[in-house]
Amino acid sequence: MVVDSSLALGVLLVVAAAAGWVIARLTTRRTTTTRSAVPPADFYRGLNHLLRDESDKALAVLQSIAEADSGMVEIHFALGTLFRQRGETDRAIRIHQNLLARPDLARRHREQALFSLAEDYLKAGLFDRAEALFVQLIDQGVQRSEALQRLVSIYERQRDWNQAIDARRQLANLLPGNHAETIAQYYCEIAQQARETNDLAQMRAALKSARGASRNIVRGALMRADLAILKDDVSLAVKLYRKLLESTPELAALVLLRLHGCFDATSAELSRTLREALRRQPELANHLAKAALAADLSQNDVVAETIRTYIADNPALATLSENYEDNYSALTEMLHSLGLARLQFRCRECGYSAGDLFWQCPACQSWDSAQTDIRITAEATTEI
Ligand SMILES: [Zn+2]
Repeated sequence: MVVDSSLALGVLLVVAAAAGWVIARLTTRRTTTTRSAVPPADFYRGLNHLLRDESDKALAVLQSIAEADSGMVEIHFALGTLFRQRGETDRAIRIHQNLLARPDLARRHREQALFSLAEDYLKAGLFDRAEALFVQLIDQGVQRSEALQRLVSIYERQRDWNQAIDARRQLANLLPGNHAETIAQYYCEIAQQARETNDLAQMRAALKSARGASRNIVRGALMRADLAILKDDVSLAVKLYRKLLESTPELAALVLLRLHGCFDATSAELSRTLREALRRQPELANHLAKAALAADLSQNDVVAETIRTYIADNPALATLSENYEDNYSALTEMLHSLGLARLQFRCRECGYSAGDLFWQCPACQSWDSAQTDIRITAEATTEI
């Protein structure tokens, strides 16, 4: 049976609230013997509604319990979380604000209510208020890593990269993860902003910081080569592009396009650069052939040679190629114009796919998760 995640969460919350209720009552019984340590019958009615996926009825029952017993703090937290999960953030905010207004609220409950209220604001898109509360919680040392994770996500959404760098650095001290690589991505974002305003000095400084944070991200290398082009240093750019082809052959489509901006497609310099990269990285041939087919860039003789080998290894394409008498330019143009060769970028974390390269997945927010996905088909149904 597939259980809806919000339903499962609701049931968990209510069971947790019941546990809290029982503990609270057992503690009370030490001093008074008049109250039972068994949750009221309505409680089970509410739980039944949740199990039947009748969240409206469950909420009504839980609300009536909360109203009858204002001391049952856990039920209020369960209600607040359920409202937030349902997108009813106004009601969730009211519940948590009411809890915080209680002068007798225990410290741990006050901290929990503050965190929950910050989560409500985040869900409601009230980023300034959420940020202020998460900062307050971090300063108080309450749920620091969770609060920092939320802060990082707020700064990423607001594209406030300097704040994101600060928060991510603090998080790196508390939680293992690819923080250095992500910080390098933030610097690349700053470099990209500088590029858009034609501030090449700022772009260079940000790329240097990105490299300082992590040498492992190809985006920084790609942007350093792009910066060299912007500064008319073509020989440095070509050297960097060639190194990228060798280290990350799956980026062939992006690099080949850029190399075509540096040289004439049939130039000896382009052939020499590609031949050198192929000598150092034989795996590049397959990537280069597919990239050239998808991007309609097959005029160069070295590229054409990789296409010839690729086609020879794929009988379905070989038949098609015969019709074009090994004229790869014409073949590539046909594949391209009919959409039989397509370059896509696919997120390795969630499968999101787009025609343009993304460095942060718009669907799951993962960084550097895009993989080149080139699909070449001889006809609509035959995929190579
Ligand atoms: Zn994704």
